[in-house]
Amino acid sequence: MKQRILSFSCFLVYLGLVALPLLLATTTHLPNRPWLDELSSAMAMLAFNIILLEFLTSGKIAWLSKRMGINWVLQIHQLFSRTAILLLISHPFLYSLPNHPNYAPGPPGESYLGMTGPTLMTGLLGLITLGILIGLAITRTKSKTSYESWRASHVIMALTISSAGLHHTLHAGRYAQEKWMMHYWQVAFGIALLTLLWVYVIQPLIQKYHPYQVSSLKQVAYNIWELTIHSKNPSTHPSYQAGQFTWLKLKTPAPLYENPFSISSAPTPSSNTLSFLIKDLGDFTHQVTELKIGDSIYVSSAYGNFGQLSNESNSNNIPLVMIAGGVGIAPMISLLKQMIATQHTVERAIHLIYGNRIESQIIDLSTMVNLKAFKNLTITHVISEPTSDWKGLVGVLDQLTLKKALEKTNSFNGSTKYLVCGAAEMIDGVEYALEALSVDISQIDSEKFQYDFTQKTARIRNSLIGWTLGTMALIASAIYFSQT
Ligand SMILES: Cc1cc2nc3c(=O)[nH]c(=O)nc-3n(C[C@H](O)[C@H](O)[C@H](O)COP(=O)(O)OP(=O)(O)OC[C@H]3O[C@@H](n4cnc5c(N)ncnc54)[C@H](O)[C@@H]3O)c2cc1C
Repeated sequence: MKQRILSFSCFLVYLGLVALPLLLATTTHLPNRPWLDELSSAMAMLAFNIILLEFLTSGKIAWLSKRMGINWVLQIHQLFSRTAILLLISHPFLYSLPNHPNYAPGPPGESYLGMTGPTLMTGLLGLITLGILIGLAITRTKSKTSYESWRASHVIMALTISSAGLHHTLHAGRYAQEKWMMHYWQVAFGIALLTLLWVYVIQPLIQKYHPYQVSSLKQVAYNIWELTIHSKNPSTHPSYQAGQFTWLKLKTPAPLYENPFSISSAPTPSSNTLSFLIKDLGDFTHQVTELKIGDSIYVSSAYGNFGQLSNESNSNNIPLVMIAGGVGIAPMISLLKQMIATQHTVERAIHLIYGNRIESQIIDLSTMVNLKAFKNLTITHVISEPTSDWKGLVGVLDQLTLKKALEKTNSFNGSTKYLVCGAAEMIDGVEYALEALSVDISQIDSEKFQYDFTQKTARIRNSLIGWTLGTMALIASAIYFSQT
């Protein structure tokens, strides 16, 4: 509930921040123009402000993702980029001014729309680049482009859009002719640039001088490796919460070559080590399996807030169901370790449902967690392609298998919390199945290993409804602005 209120409040704050330039513009004293022209300016101001805020919601600001969760942050990023392009496309078509030359809005000495050659060019450049950027982001998983090339192009295009947008706004924007509105855009652009500087220059430099070293690497199941690293300088060890993830870089602290992994260890005051469970899946994860003891490795701060839903007050009386798909077990192990570290004996009713494709992918949890510390822990394995010897549940983590698994324990009720972690498709499938089993979305906390929407689950519906209402509220604020 607390998280829901926080998400809603932050959503309102986000909308408020987007609409801030409109509020500031109402305090200017410029001659009146036809309302369509005002609407056009308002749409452009909202769109440009969304674009600048996209730098903060890129998922790389640890502070934000720790409070709001990475899924919330990235959904704002992905969905409101669509709002920006919608507003920008309508912006040039709304103008009526060419027919009303009396309402000269531009800088003194320029044509009445203030639209000179360069401003027209930067406006078009920004709009077209934004269209390409969104198109490439939506089709990324289906294209053959490597993640790193896609990310580099994403950053370059984001810089192009914001720089072109700034030029267009400062030279053609009617309200930006007011000094302090001009400063507003310069400062907002500066903050956006600072976030890039932090991610692509400052953080890599800090990492370069504070590397971690590989302490151990062992295969713990078919294609899955446990990597443990330690900080050479404990004072730079990131403080983290169980369930969070970090970005790892191998060989070089240079930006771009970093991949996200959930931390499978739990934070302890004097420890300077971090552990991960890594599935050998592609280029980067395969390189992890070839690391040698003592090799350098670079770590960013801890991100996300997975598992915090399970830590609300009175949590000991609230049953907990953990549903992990494959290597999605990593943050669950961290959370279980954390429970032992803080409570020693854990009375809470916990049901861990652990799905894998084949038996050899199952990690022996007893080698990582002191399972005996739990008084009421049930572990149910689900295998989708079992051998003939397999006696447990068979299937993928869908409604049928989840129902069968959940029936094994009868302590679950309307207050039960569900933690789900794994691939995007698995998460969406599990949320869909839980919804069909009458579980409310507010009871579920999920961590996706990819940021894609795959099914129409309650969470995705809620996001789309929130986005539609948010966009409508922004358009309504632009209309209100144009009438006053
Ligand atoms: C929050 C989060 C936590 C994760 N935790 C774990 C974990 O504990 N253990 C684990 O094995 N895997 C985890 N993953 C998945 C892991 O990040 C990817 O499997 C890995 O980055 C794949 O890289 P690759 O080059 O080996 O494979 P590729 O074949 O190159 O990539 C496979 C897919 O992984 C994703 N991916 C690749 N590179 C990146 C990148 N730099 N940033 C983001 N996504 C990328 C893309 O969707 C890509 O299509 C997590 C992912 C996220 C988002």
